[in-house]
Amino acid sequence: MFNGLTEKFQGIFSVFSKESAFTEENIKDAVKKVRLALLDADVNYKVASNLVKRIKEKVVGTEVEKQLKKTDAFINIVHEELIDLMGKEESAVEFKKTPTKILLCGLQGAGKTTTCAKFAQYIKREHSKSVSLVALDLKRPAAIKQLQILGAEVDVPVFAIEDEKDPNIVAAKSGELDTDVIIYDTAGRQNLDDDLMEELSCLKNLIKPDYIIFVANCGSGQQAVNVAKAFDEKIQISGSILTMLDGGARAGAAISIREVTGKPLYYEGVGEKVSDFQVFNPKSMADRILGMGDMINLVKKMKREISDEDSKKMEEKMVKGSFTYDDLLKQMKMLKKMGSLKGLFKMLPGASGADLDLSGGESQLKTFEAVIFSMTRRERAGIDDLAMGRKKRIAKGAGISLGSVNKLVKQFKQMKEMAKKMPGMKKNITGANAKKTAILKKNPHFNRFFS
Ligand code: GDP
Repeated sequence: MFNGLTEKFQGIFSVFSKESAFTEENIKDAVKKVRLALLDADVNYKVASNLVKRIKEKVVGTEVEKQLKKTDAFINIVHEELIDLMGKEESAVEFKKTPTKILLCGLQGAGKTTTCAKFAQYIKREHSKSVSLVALDLKRPAAIKQLQILGAEVDVPVFAIEDEKDPNIVAAKSGELDTDVIIYDTAGRQNLDDDLMEELSCLKNLIKPDYIIFVANCGSGQQAVNVAKAFDEKIQISGSILTMLDGGARAGAAISIREVTGKPLYYEGVGEKVSDFQVFNPKSMADRILGMGDMINLVKKMKREISDEDSKKMEEKMVKGSFTYDDLLKQMKMLKKMGSLKGLFKMLPGASGADLDLSGGESQLKTFEAVIFSMTRRERAGIDDLAMGRKKRIAKGAGISLGSVNKLVKQFKQMKEMAKKMPGMKKNITGANAKKTAILKKNPHFNRFFS
């Protein structure tokens, strides 16, 4: 994500000389480059100017601690300013009122219909609330059908009236649905127009939503910012959801929308799948922009997919040395649930810009799986030892060479041995601290990951 801006920022930070303090003079070049990088990434001109001004004020006169490199001190300040600009903390929607009514609005193709389903799934999963969707996009011919398909995918009812042309009638007939949360999908237009604003104003008066959320297509850069501003002026939005943050999205909209509208950024869509949706976190976004991975969402993902109980059980088995092929298979399944190895690796600090070839890792996982599937139940449970005859049979069953089976069995045994030897893996504080010190020595600006 944000490849362009991330790379440019990293280039800027490597220009500092070895002087001990920041001065107006020695940061001139870096500040100018920050400004150009921001403008180039489609950040709103005023927003970029204010941000650069604040960075400059903070940097000049900042004492650089001895153990900190100047580059890291500068990055820390840019990082803090970016976080401030995007709202400091997470600002998620509240669902205390029943029903909580949420109206989604935005231009055509911004991702409103898809976001309805993503949002509904998220609310059900994270807040255990029932959700209904109401189809008010009567302009786009296939919009109702699309919402119905997506609604079925996330198992959420969709209220729609086929052949009705007036969204006000549909809204009125939807009445008070018996549900905790109602999300209204509204029509967009190719561009801003009075007709659309009039339609939304009427719906606002009729529905009296608790939240009016603007869906911003970040792929459209500066345009999304201007559109957000116009929507806010006409119908007073409560906040925004950013979409299309995957792929080659430029960071401009993400950085500017909150500042220009003064309204919070609630969530973000990071892919086409209904599960590609998460709370917008200013710190995580600043990390991604600066090419520091996305530890915040990686940890959230792990917590969501792997229960505490499961991970504790696995750890205990590893320590006792009773870890079996069955356990390994379980662990691989957990990893798969979290997404592709490549996607996960990209969330690690330092990996975002790298052109990764993880196909080896993915295919090795597949081979491992094939080998385990070719074992008997007793072999998987570690009751029957894998003698040569058994290995030959497994190789045949998995369609791989005997050499590959030997290699994998050896790796598995090494893994078990290593786990057993790790002194008190469960409470290996010393080890964790040594690792932390080593990481910090190399990258002092990662300190916040350990806080
Ligand atoms: P609407 O006209 O505002 O309702 O937009 P849609 O929900 O129909 O989305 C337009 C297109 O963008 C569809 O093909 C969606 O699958 C796709 N889309 C929506 N959100 C995202 C996202 O976060 N990332 C990507 N890559 N595609 C998205």
